[in-house]
Amino acid sequence: MTKRFMVRPALCIGCRTCELACSLTHQEGKTPGRTRIYPLAVGKEKWVPVACLQCDDPACVKSCLVDALRMNEELGYIELLQERCIKCRACVAACPFGCSLIDEEQEIIVKCDLCEGNPACARFCPTKALEYK
Ligand code: SF4
Ligand code: SF4
Repeated sequence: MTKRFMVRPALCIGCRTCELACSLTHQEGKTPGRTRIYPLAVGKEKWVPVACLQCDDPACVKSCLVDALRMNEELGYIELLQERCIKCRACVAACPFGCSLIDEEQEIIVKCDLCEGNPACARFCPTKALEYK
């Protein structure tokens, strides 16, 4: 059975450990990468972790005219093929959750790849606001 990435906003304490884990996992060259997840403050001591939900009917995939995005059926995540990407940013505009992101420093598009089956954010989240199981 394919594992699912689960987000429970009620458990998020806004510690940003997920950001750190993501950034250090996705090193571009020798520098930490653009984080693919972040806690959004939505009120007094309330946060919503914003992360790619690997949608069943993904707007990003439909928006890409060069097939640079596709569902990796084996690992259950939407894969971005950098070698095909022409950086048109259509997927960035299309994602309703703001989870197809621009790495301005590296001048590439990035999105969550669930760390190819072992997401660091979920492993290090201290409250289990994020789980992959
Ligand atoms: S690591 Fe977990 S508790 Fe901390 S900000 Fe991220 S989702 Fe929230
Ligand atoms: S930026 Fe890249 S991945 Fe996104 S829609 Fe354009 S070609 Fe596809």
